[in-house]
Amino acid sequence: MRSIFLTIVAFLLVACASVVPPRPPLDAVAERFVKLTLEIGEREEGYVDAYHGPPEWAAAAKANTRSVEALGAEANALLAMVRAVPDAGLAPLELKRRAYLEVHLQSAAFRLRMIGGERAPFADEAEALFGVRPPLAPLESFEPAIARVDTLLPGEGPLHARVAAFRKRYEIPADRLRPVMEAAIAECRRRTLAHISLPASERFDLELVIGKPWGGYNWFKGGAHSLIQINTDLPSTIDRALDLGCHEGYPGHHVQNVLMEKLYTERGWVEFSIWPLFAPVGFIAEGSANAGIALAFPGDEKRQFEQRVLYPLAGLDPAAAPALEAVTTALAALRGAEYTIADAYLAGRIDRAGAIAQLQRYQLSSPERAAKRVDFIDAYRSYVINYGLGQDMVAARLARAGAGQDAQWAAMVAILSEPTLPRDLEAR
Ligand SMILES: [Zn+2]
Repeated sequence: MRSIFLTIVAFLLVACASVVPPRPPLDAVAERFVKLTLEIGEREEGYVDAYHGPPEWAAAAKANTRSVEALGAEANALLAMVRAVPDAGLAPLELKRRAYLEVHLQSAAFRLRMIGGERAPFADEAEALFGVRPPLAPLESFEPAIARVDTLLPGEGPLHARVAAFRKRYEIPADRLRPVMEAAIAECRRRTLAHISLPASERFDLELVIGKPWGGYNWFKGGAHSLIQINTDLPSTIDRALDLGCHEGYPGHHVQNVLMEKLYTERGWVEFSIWPLFAPVGFIAEGSANAGIALAFPGDEKRQFEQRVLYPLAGLDPAAAPALEAVTTALAALRGAEYTIADAYLAGRIDRAGAIAQLQRYQLSSPERAAKRVDFIDAYRSYVINYGLGQDMVAARLARAGAGQDAQWAAMVAILSEPTLPRDLEAR
């Protein structure tokens, strides 16, 4: 009797094994990572930037969210699980997948401590959340860059006011914004599709909105579809149209979402159905979205396209374009000052008024833009490093791929379509 029973059990086990292959251990971690991320999203609005995985998992997270402490314990348990998965038998892309899960679980564990009220210095927070330690340069080190802007815009009054008056001449009139943005995104898309093949179903909708702390946002809907929103609280200058078109659309956020979605739909790697905002994937996303501008418009091609197409569409004088390009290039050297100011502000060493004053002095922002930026720093904290530092690191990675356009686009496709971490961008 017993032996017959065991034989039947053994037979069933063999039968099951032949029908259902054993589940790769990373799949089990990935499923729990997604459920954990969804539950963190119930604890912190905005933490889940996009999700297009099983809808019943999202419903379950809503219905039954564990305590912050229990979620922290789950993150640590999953970290132990992922670290126990041996190298043997993992293909190169699977090794990247394991590293992605490990680093994102570390980041999630830290974010949960922040949700529980813990605060760390700016650079520590950035490193724990995004996997990159930002340099905090002394503000005096930006004086030579400020002097260059001063040379370009001589005159009376504070320099930030001269910058604002100068940039005002390049504002896109409100009634021209939509056609200018549409033409800009169409060109970013055309140039990207010449180098990256996307599914035929790929598409986006464009909306102009108000009352947001950001300038533009890409909301990925799954199925290769994005909603791109442009905030019109403050007028956009003409040079921002291609910046936003590349950053939010092509080859930026929309394209990265479409490519990474394939890891989920084609390989079944469910962790790529979800985008935690405060995570290393955010650093890669913002950095590649910004670096994608110069990739799509190398050399002076951006200014040429603006002069030929966008200035006339906006009713602006194309002959004024080189002056704007010179000032914008000079201002870009001030990017890093923001991390130093955010560090001092978030640590309480300067107050809101002090931060606004420093942003006017060292970013040459108008009072209105500086106030908006402090709103952004309040909401997103060390996320601010992802734009400038992310851009620098992705651009350096592309440059190492070689001088040719094809080599640089191929490097960008690898960054956007594989489980890429900030440390993968560094020179080996
Ligand atoms: Zn972005």
